Amino acid sequence: MSNHFLDTKIEFLKGVGPKRAEILRKELGISNYRQLMLYYPFRYIDKSKLFRIADISSDEVHIQLRGKVVELKNLGERRGKRLVATLKDDSGEIELVWFKGIKWLASSIVIGKEYVVYGKPSKYSNRYNIAHPDLDEVDSSLIANKVTLEAVYPSTDLLTRLNLNSKGIHKIQKNLVVQLGGKIQETLPFRILEQLKLISKEKAIVNVHAPENEHLLQKARYRLKFEELFYLQLNLLRQKVIKTDKIKGQIFNRIGDYFNTFYNDNLPFELTGAQKRVLKEIRDDVGYGNHMNRLLQGDVGSGKTIVALMSILIAIDNGFQACLMAPTEILANQHFEGIVELLKGIDLNVQLLTGSVKTAKRKEIHEQLENGELDILIGTHALIEDKVKFQKLGFVVIDEQHRFGVQQRSKLWRKGTPAGNGKVVPPHVLVMTATPIPRTLAMTFYGDLDVSVIDELPPGRKEIKTIHRFDSSRLKIFGFIEEEIKKGRQVYIVYPLIQESEKMDYKDLMDGYESIQRRFPRPDYQISIVHGQMKAADKEFEMQRFVKGETQIMVATTVIEVGVNVPNASVMVIESAERFGLSQLHQLRGRVGRGAEQSFCILMTGNKLSADSRLRMETMVKTNDGFELSEVDLKLRGPGDIQGTQQSGLLNLNIADLVRDGQILQYARDIAVATLKEDPNLEKEQNHRLVSTLNYLFGNKINWGRIS
Ligand code: ADP
Ligand code: MG
Repeated sequence: MSNHFLDTKIEFLKGVGPKRAEILRKELGISNYRQLMLYYPFRYIDKSKLFRIADISSDEVHIQLRGKVVELKNLGERRGKRLVATLKDDSGEIELVWFKGIKWLASSIVIGKEYVVYGKPSKYSNRYNIAHPDLDEVDSSLIANKVTLEAVYPSTDLLTRLNLNSKGIHKIQKNLVVQLGGKIQETLPFRILEQLKLISKEKAIVNVHAPENEHLLQKARYRLKFEELFYLQLNLLRQKVIKTDKIKGQIFNRIGDYFNTFYNDNLPFELTGAQKRVLKEIRDDVGYGNHMNRLLQGDVGSGKTIVALMSILIAIDNGFQACLMAPTEILANQHFEGIVELLKGIDLNVQLLTGSVKTAKRKEIHEQLENGELDILIGTHALIEDKVKFQKLGFVVIDEQHRFGVQQRSKLWRKGTPAGNGKVVPPHVLVMTATPIPRTLAMTFYGDLDVSVIDELPPGRKEIKTIHRFDSSRLKIFGFIEEEIKKGRQVYIVYPLIQESEKMDYKDLMDGYESIQRRFPRPDYQISIVHGQMKAADKEFEMQRFVKGETQIMVATTVIEVGVNVPNASVMVIESAERFGLSQLHQLRGRVGRGAEQSFCILMTGNKLSADSRLRMETMVKTNDGFELSEVDLKLRGPGDIQGTQQSGLLNLNIADLVRDGQILQYARDIAVATLKEDPNLEKEQNHRLVSTLNYLFGNKINWGRIS
């Protein structure tokens, strides 16, 4: 999609010139028409709606006023210094306040002149004022042109100095829009425009910068958001098609003795419907020579391990080795013990490889891997060391995905089986995570992966009861803990993470530990303590005491967040719960509720909570559903703060918003899927426009490194 006109240097645009061009490039990275065209407004002022000052009754929304400045005062000293203007219309008066840029404003505001004011009122000692409003002289040209919606652009200090504040940018955008007429090619196929009743690209661009009216502005934004999300999805899905074509996987077409014996003799419970469905999804992937790269999402306790194990048995039935990698030694240990137990009576060689395995044992494991005697290797990142070579690695499971980087995963990928021609057939990869990701994010970040979801807990689980208590009721909580311990249960008490710099956290933890010890003295009670500043071996020792039931209370920082399984623990107390994010709180809560008893999660907070913190506590109390929580989390924090999304670079969206535009994203995804289903390689005439746009947007590079 070469379009020479759009490549025109920005300095040639009316109203720009070399000086402004330079600063636009430096500050905003805008050096040609196209880049300016894609620099969209972030909001619009509705010039058609005017509020009367007397009618202001809420501090919820931005409003627009029109009136005369009747008084201008400099008030306050030093940091309290402010400029106050009194604006008067025929209904009343209101104060406008500025704390910054006072000098310039004081010299430019003219008493007696009429202004249009835009801002958010706030109530201060029973009267409304507006801090830092936008202030415009009543511009008769705007009124004459009946412009009602004015675009507002982000700007910077340096740009403002060259008169390129929002208004200045708006002016040059209007010059650009005039130039663009007839020069913007359509980038979506006609049938999609028809199907979704989208306006043309040109009309959308014009209206996003200079909206004719509200209706066309909405149509314009919708069209541009759709386009952005559609090409993102189409690209992800096309990469998947190409990968599936190019990368051959091992074929596991036999279900043999290991699987069947396990299924008939060892499986300790009936699989849930969700577990069966996921197993089938995996079998369909690995059975026909495609390479599997699958993300398995399932809430804590949903039973991902058994699905992984049964998949591993299929690999072994087909003559391959398998490995399972966990993020910590404790988890690797638990997986090892659990799996050895599950495989009792079945003749398979299962070994554990972690940092603390002795050299002699390590050597033995390396040898058995290479000569094929070892079937299942379980371990930590010790697994990815170069020395670890498999004879025939066919299946890799990675637990708690977010702790591992992409690089580490691709290292495992390269440990596949030589195909004879110097190439390696990569093992199938199953990545498991207990951090549910909102649907919209999953579609985007894992758009080129297959995603399976276990959305059903095993039967008979008692729902964890979650309550929120203020620090002032700690004594009652201690009483409750005592009762639970008397019943033979164990209790976690968790404090915010200790970081080296944060002496306060350490003090909080130690103060807490001391008061707990006073309330639960030895020898009747035994307490474990684990925190981030302890040596690994000491942590391990304390953890194990709790796992074995030798201690009743585990006082810890969030080091216990992931994975540990102590079914007898039934109470999770989270101190300073307001300092944790929702997904972290949910992970912590998942440490209890693993046994037959009723479990409890108690969120302790200070009395004063921010609105966000209160919403987080209420959400935790209200639901145990990780996916529901993740949606709230996304709304509260925005996509950029959700775990793992930062590195992906996929968030550089120009106009769409993954939080608010979930519905558009769904349409975009559906249409991209349908398009590729009909024409997987986009060879048909009708899809030429798609190919050229894709190539323009993403180039021809396929990112092979991005395994998941
Ligand atoms: P997670 O998905 O958090 O890794 P696990 O695989 O550790 O969950 O399973 C949690 C517990 O549930 C384990 O004790 C496991 O044996 C048990 N479990 C798993 N699937 C079922 C099932 N279908 N019926 C009953 N219990 C199950
Ligand atoms: Mg698990």
